[in-house]
Amino acid sequence: MNIQQSLWFDPTMIFIGGARCRPGSDSTIPVENPSTGEVICAIGRGTAADVDAAVTAAEAALEGAWGRMPAVERGRILMRMSQLVLARAEELAFLESTDVGKPMKQARNDSTALARYLEFYAGAADKVHGTTIPYQDGFTVYTLREPHGVTGHIIPWNYPLQILGRSVGAALAMGNACVLKPAEDASLSSLAFASIAAEAGLPAGALNIVTGYGAEVGAALSEHPGVHHVSFTGSVGTGRRIQEAAARNVVPVTLELGGKSPHIVFDDVDLEAALPTLVGACMQAAGQTCSAASRVLVQRGIYDEVRRRMAEVYQGLEVGPAPDNRDLGPLVSKRQKEIVSSYIALGKQDLAVAGEGRIRDDAPAAGNYVAPVLFAEVPPDHRLAQEEIFGPVQVLIPFDTEADAIRIANGTEYGLVAGVWTRDGGRQMRLARKLNVGQVFINNYGAGGGIELPFGGVGKSGHGREKGFEALYGFSRLKTVTASHG
Ligand code: NAP
Ligand code: MG
Repeated sequence: MNIQQSLWFDPTMIFIGGARCRPGSDSTIPVENPSTGEVICAIGRGTAADVDAAVTAAEAALEGAWGRMPAVERGRILMRMSQLVLARAEELAFLESTDVGKPMKQARNDSTALARYLEFYAGAADKVHGTTIPYQDGFTVYTLREPHGVTGHIIPWNYPLQILGRSVGAALAMGNACVLKPAEDASLSSLAFASIAAEAGLPAGALNIVTGYGAEVGAALSEHPGVHHVSFTGSVGTGRRIQEAAARNVVPVTLELGGKSPHIVFDDVDLEAALPTLVGACMQAAGQTCSAASRVLVQRGIYDEVRRRMAEVYQGLEVGPAPDNRDLGPLVSKRQKEIVSSYIALGKQDLAVAGEGRIRDDAPAAGNYVAPVLFAEVPPDHRLAQEEIFGPVQVLIPFDTEADAIRIANGTEYGLVAGVWTRDGGRQMRLARKLNVGQVFINNYGAGGGIELPFGGVGKSGHGREKGFEALYGFSRLKTVTASHG
């Protein structure tokens, strides 16, 4: 497969009202392949006027066929989308892998996860309903679950296919009309998805896609008065800006802002079972995962053994071009490589290196490759133990007691997910309650993507829940109807 063959659409066009069209700026943004540094194509640079046109098209869809469509029909369209994604899974994976540098095996997983999100929300579309509420004599009271209307979706570059699935999939299931702004570093798979939506019979305007810069298109979308809900995944700084913009319009937002998630390893752990996950849960997408297990807290009694065993795994980790399917691909951009490299340089200045992977000799020099690093005996207040690095870097932090583990685990500004490794059932239950996070994994981590499982954070990791059934409540609003009939 080569990239030109996989571009069955013109990536310089945006998608509004069911048709591909030129962005108002008539200018483009080059797209780089992170594995080689080569420019492979360009995407359109949308404008605030394009966002406006997309919102108008979404409003028209809500007024028209999409707004009148029964939930079961919406579900059937989502199911057809799911099947079309599966039929094109390899092409979508190839586009994603070329665009963001993900090894093909991981990009394939993203394609099938997108199909699974659409399948899940297809089945759920007609199963969300209101209730009747016992009230005074002579009244009947019931609630209606209604779509917000036009929903804005601003997604990052690390898992575009998956995040599109969890956010747009749930919003469409509830009957919203969506305007999607993909990250400028990863727009190709979303643009490809537009064809799938149209082919599946999604009415024009129910999904609109405007590519471009965050400060232009993203900002225009988050502050547009016609947008009734904004779903955002990305950095804390941008999330804050989006919440401020939404506050001016007094509309709800869902923010998923990453984390500094801990694996907590107690000395009764089944280490053979845990070991691949302790490293793997951070190396996926080369550490560019919001829920990456970037801190590993280990009880003192087994600390040396865990350090040695993890170091051995690190010694075997290979970084190479995405098509070669090594353990890690390149980082998404030169900018991301610079950010991550500066954290590694700081770590090497202050901390002990326990283990390091290697970049293969045949990796092109112009690619954004970074070798993974494991740092040992890291003080919990060190910057590398506090800040989200978003690259293949893990810190090992020793602890003595259960109370210490909880204090250290809860001791960052973030609170997305946590992993707890222990065979002690009571301890499992205590930690599940005491950890300030949105999701706890006991003797596992990530649960294979967990499409069915509500996901989101506390603290600076954000608020609101996506994935699972819970997302459907977030993408709808409740109306209470009180009828007096004597
Ligand atoms: P970012 O700025 O938060 O980007 C996320 C999305 O927001 C992209 O679609 C981006 O568009 C858009 N955006 C940027 N500025 C905007 C604005 N003023 N108004 C509305 N939308 C805007 O993140 P980034 O710069 O790509 O990455 C920086 C750091 O964020 C990473 O190092 C990582 O720590 C964190 N991050 C976290 C996640 C996560 O899953 N939680 C994902 C990605 C990044 P453009 O891409 O076109 O600018
Ligand atoms: Mg790219």
